[in-house]
Amino acid sequence: MTLAERARRVIPGGVNSGQRSIPGLTDLVITRTAGSRFWDGDGREFTDYHAAFGPPLLGHNDPDVAAAVADASGRLGLTGVAVTEGEVLLAEQLAELIPSIEQVLLTSTGSEATFHALRLARAVTGRRLVVKFQGCYHGWHDAVSLNVISAPDRVGRHDPTSTGILSEVLDATLVLRFNDPAALRQVFAEHGRDIAAVIVEPVPHNVGALLPTEEFLRALREECTAAGSVLVFDEVITGFRHALGGYQAISGVTPDLTTLGKAIANGAPIGALGGRADLMQYFSSRPGGPVFFAGTYNGHPLPVAAALATVRKLREQPVHEHVFRLGDRVRGELTALYERMGVPAVVTGYGSVFVSYFMPGPAPLSYDDLLANDTALFVGYRRHLVEHGIFELPLNLKRSHLSYAHTDADVDRLLEATEAAVRRTLA
Ligand code: PLP
Repeated sequence: MTLAERARRVIPGGVNSGQRSIPGLTDLVITRTAGSRFWDGDGREFTDYHAAFGPPLLGHNDPDVAAAVADASGRLGLTGVAVTEGEVLLAEQLAELIPSIEQVLLTSTGSEATFHALRLARAVTGRRLVVKFQGCYHGWHDAVSLNVISAPDRVGRHDPTSTGILSEVLDATLVLRFNDPAALRQVFAEHGRDIAAVIVEPVPHNVGALLPTEEFLRALREECTAAGSVLVFDEVITGFRHALGGYQAISGVTPDLTTLGKAIANGAPIGALGGRADLMQYFSSRPGGPVFFAGTYNGHPLPVAAALATVRKLREQPVHEHVFRLGDRVRGELTALYERMGVPAVVTGYGSVFVSYFMPGPAPLSYDDLLANDTALFVGYRRHLVEHGIFELPLNLKRSHLSYAHTDADVDRLLEATEAAVRRTLA
């Protein structure tokens, strides 16, 4: 029996996440990673543009991060009391780098960070409603488990990503169109006094890349301020990947709370929730704080060491310069390629993130625009890429990532292989 078959006997579906169950790849077993590559159990090599949904911005097994984790593991275990130097150093850096963060708490995942952000917003405001946007993903917990990738007839209507969620919880989340300031202002006019929080990916990368208009981000800030609602930027993908200060540093729009994860520690499990001190003071980490906050692994020395080493490298080496240059090259050359081939496509993204939608332009502004994407071509050409050792996740609307470990030679191969894969899919 193969390892994948053994996996399916003892792990439902054979994988540890609903997001890893990929048609056609159910026999894939990963045995090794290094830099921009991973290998499977048959020794096949893949150049990795999926990048675990985003964490390894420096590339897999970055030697500086690995050394910092090895050092910490030989020195410091988890005690579950008090605080460690690493937690203080990391919190100081997050407060220094990210405009909205005065105080910060560590979690193990991004989902925990967004969960606590919404609970805090409800506690502080005493209100019930949360606003999210169609196409944004904020983790697996109930309040945000709706309207990510919806079928055309479910767009904007309640579309849970799971069964088993109380309808009362789903009903307390309003779903709006991204980049639609008029819809936002209307919902605030009707429900403003009941809105505890607005949570948003400043660049919705969970459907590839929808770039925010300045007007929309400003409207979010204005409406939340006017209504006394808490604005949460979910920067689990954009934080550190797009800039050390997150997308808020790029846009100049500062939320009240920020959630982080993924690229902050290059793949080690850590998340963070930070923001205005007067809000963060409600958490029970402060004696008397009424909003319960706990987690056995919060501030674990190993991911904290990984995060400190990652942030140091991002500050000291031209990581962003490298991945932004490669990203611009990929987007520019893919656009030219599709034009030459006569294939209607929109290539978009930001910095190290890129995606090709197979539809006529202009660049999409909201999830509705993505309904024009040719799903069969989007998934089909990626299946061909995977067969030829280039791993772009073959699921609709998924983005691809570049890392500090990717080279121009990798990009040359990606471009050649993409042309061949699109031709074969269209044939
Ligand atoms: N927020 C965003 C924007 C994400 O993309 C994700 C995960 O993909 C999460 C939150 C949840 O993070 P985690 O998977 O670490 O719980």
